[in-house]
Amino acid sequence: MGPGPSDVSPRVLGALGRPTIGHLDPLFIDLMDDVKRLLQFAFKTSNPLTIPISAPGSAGMEAAFVNLVRPGDTVIVCQNGVFGGRMKENVERCGGVPVMVQDRWGDPVDPGKVETALKQHPEASILAFVHSETSTGVRSDAETLCKLAKNHGALVIMDTVTTLGGIDLRVDEWGADAVYSGSQKCLSCVPGIAPITFSSDAVERIKARDTKVQSWFLDMQLVMGYWGGDAKRAYHHTAPVNAMYALHEALLILEEEGLEQSFARHKKNHDALVSGLDGLGLSMAVSEEWRLPQLNAVSIPDGVDDAAVRARLLKDFNLEIGAGLGELAGKQWRIGLMGHASSPVNVERCLTALAAVLGR
Ligand SMILES: *Cc1c(COP(=O)(O)O)cnc(C)c1O
Repeated sequence: MGPGPSDVSPRVLGALGRPTIGHLDPLFIDLMDDVKRLLQFAFKTSNPLTIPISAPGSAGMEAAFVNLVRPGDTVIVCQNGVFGGRMKENVERCGGVPVMVQDRWGDPVDPGKVETALKQHPEASILAFVHSETSTGVRSDAETLCKLAKNHGALVIMDTVTTLGGIDLRVDEWGADAVYSGSQKCLSCVPGIAPITFSSDAVERIKARDTKVQSWFLDMQLVMGYWGGDAKRAYHHTAPVNAMYALHEALLILEEEGLEQSFARHKKNHDALVSGLDGLGLSMAVSEEWRLPQLNAVSIPDGVDDAAVRARLLKDFNLEIGAGLGELAGKQWRIGLMGHASSPVNVERCLTALAAVLGR
């Protein structure tokens, strides 16, 4: 019950153990097509360029930046936690110029500050932000941020690593242009795959580039030769075939449950956890409106030894919860209720264990 990887269901683990076939086998090509369809469903998009990248969520982030940011481009980057800082790093490594919009860790991105930055930087062609900040347990208002970017003619790069499958995400309706995620959070798949989708505006920008994407592996024009639509598929890299079986199975499970039903389940278990924590005298670190149901940031009470509590939870209860990251280290716990792990049984188990360890 940490910030990911979340528990993988036996069904997904079973899929992982199927025989390994070739990455150009017709059967595997069929599975690739179905994975694309299921990812379009999960992202709520009809973007043809919607694929799983054969690498973890961080590679999804890097794929969005290296393909869209050209040397000299100005990018507005919002930071209200750890992952916004990595976006800045990505922009710089692409030769771009980041303009930072900072918010307090624990607050959502402030649309007012973003609008000011867009007005002050009419040359900015991209806005980048994290929808679900896993480091702080905070959701930001993606719909409003996307609207602001559109009004200023900028494309949107959005991190939805912890969002996908856990809370509402509408790529097409909101108008986000490069949206990436990870397999091991609310999809409850094994780590190591990054679903990503690019809008037609994003694809146009990639095709119009007159400089090469500096990453060979993540260059979408090359990746498309393998994952692309109608054209004959060509070898680009050996896909992690078994991990793709697992992703396919995890997405089927999500489809069977239904997106809205999954969101409702995450919310219900979150509510149960919050009320149980309240009963133990523990309070949430994030204001109610912006809390992530899948990642619960809890304030550590004065006088409680963070590391000792987590060590006892792990040793005596076989339960992992997350520590605070960066400036929140020692101040917060992060309790994940992601995907398969978002269940009443886990809520109960966590509350019982915390009560015992804290002597409350
Ligand atoms: C986990 C996470 C990532 C990185 O994903 P990895 O699979 O660990 O590389 C990026 N952004 C956010 C918001 C995350 O929670």
